[in-house]
Amino acid sequence: MSFAFDPTSVSLPSGHFIGGDYVAAPEAIEVISPSTGQRIGAIACADAQMVDRAVASARQALKTSNWGGLAPRDRAKALHKWADLMEAEAPYLAQLEAICSSRPYAQALTGDIAVTAEQIRFFAEFADKECGDLVPTSDGQFGYISDHPYGVIGAVTPWNFPISMAGWKLGPALAAGNAVVIKPSEMTPYTTLYMAELSVKAGIPAGLVNVALGDGPTTGNAITGHPGIDKVSFTGSTRAGAAIMENIARHGIKPMTLELGGKSPMLVFADADLDKAAECLAKGILPNAGQFCVAGSRILVAREVADELSAKLMAEFGRQVPDVTHAGAAGFSPIISARQMGRIDSIVKAARAKGGEILCGGAAFDREGSFYQPTLIAGVDETNPAVTEEIFGPVATFQTFDSEEDAMALAAHDTYGLCAGLFTQDLSRALRLSGRLEAGTVWVNRYGRSRDHILPTGGWKASGLGKDLGREAYRANRRTKSVLIDL
Ligand code: NAD
Repeated sequence: MSFAFDPTSVSLPSGHFIGGDYVAAPEAIEVISPSTGQRIGAIACADAQMVDRAVASARQALKTSNWGGLAPRDRAKALHKWADLMEAEAPYLAQLEAICSSRPYAQALTGDIAVTAEQIRFFAEFADKECGDLVPTSDGQFGYISDHPYGVIGAVTPWNFPISMAGWKLGPALAAGNAVVIKPSEMTPYTTLYMAELSVKAGIPAGLVNVALGDGPTTGNAITGHPGIDKVSFTGSTRAGAAIMENIARHGIKPMTLELGGKSPMLVFADADLDKAAECLAKGILPNAGQFCVAGSRILVAREVADELSAKLMAEFGRQVPDVTHAGAAGFSPIISARQMGRIDSIVKAARAKGGEILCGGAAFDREGSFYQPTLIAGVDETNPAVTEEIFGPVATFQTFDSEEDAMALAAHDTYGLCAGLFTQDLSRALRLSGRLEAGTVWVNRYGRSRDHILPTGGWKASGLGKDLGREAYRANRRTKSVLIDL
């Protein structure tokens, strides 16, 4: 796979995408390559007036195109075309993704874009499978439940999987008949802009997808608090999710979907297939340098197999070779920014100061860019910061247990409940514990999302509110109405 992208000779957009076209605005935020530390470009930061303009454009586009009133089949046609264009443009999109994010080019090309196109098609096809209900009323009259788009969805997304996150928000919102004002992370703006451009080429009416660039405190805040936004859909940290809830409450009440942080436990029992468990645990923390919400960052192992498993893990961690994302090979990813790498390192140091034993890693790689060594920390208790904090890096803790109850007590986290993994050959234990684990997703003897887009994803506890993907995500972009008729 060749990567022929030279950011110095390609003009990357710096302005917003509103009403089907780029809107120039003064550059305010630099975009830096995490692989090299070099500046790639700079983007604008939408203030309240610019967000007003984006919301007005969305509202106007809904009115003139009657998008929400079209037959779902007609919306589906444009969404299918959009997915086709994304696939046709995959090499360029993947390069835009790799240049500023921690996603390796090869993985973005063959993974993220292909899966996002599939998900868009899933929602396009889903739209005409959902319909209201007739209700025989208790007084012998007539009632029905109809459902309707919200109008304008305000979406805010993180930097860790920019294309996928934009697809999760835009796919169901558009299929369900809404317009969107989306703000990608200021660190990874380019693929969302290009996806918006492609949406217009695909025949999705101009103004239905608007991209307001900028940071959280300025642009994110203006979008989530805007009175013209009918629903908020956010993916990011629990801290920012709480700030968004507060912001919404300050301006009134509106529905929201929040996909937030995690600190997911992976439980390995003595009867597990240890080779397979080790492979899944590595898959749960090493890709994207552990910068994914569903990272299995707390490894809990039956004492009798702990030494064997930790040896297997340390060997795999030690094999990782850091590599720039804009290369053909999919090497070990950089940390998104020098600031984030500093945060990871400070939590690792704090973990060590509280008695943590660094089994491997524990420092940055000695090279350009922001690369942190895969790190395994033992000797931690439930008060250790490496156990309590979402680190969002290639760092896992390693704890042992002596019984099932012991394992369940360690697995429970005060804050998070995004995912959990379970490795055992005992089917009744697998079923029993899957039911008890406080998590929105449980994997048994496997790790990671499948390509079954009907499965909703989203956390329990402070890991989220509502779901992305699945029929729940489609429904979350519609609102129901009960109609009663006196015959
Ligand atoms: P972040 O919360 O710092 O930022 C996410 C987005 O929100 C960015 O676009 C940012 O500019 C914006 N933002 C920040 N503060 C805001 C505010 N007060 N108001 C409005 N917008 C604001 O998160 P991040 O560092 O970009 O991403 C990592 C986090 O995302 C992790 O916590 C991870 O677990 C979470 N995440 C969750 C899921 C999921 O499905 N649950 C998926 C991916 C990432």
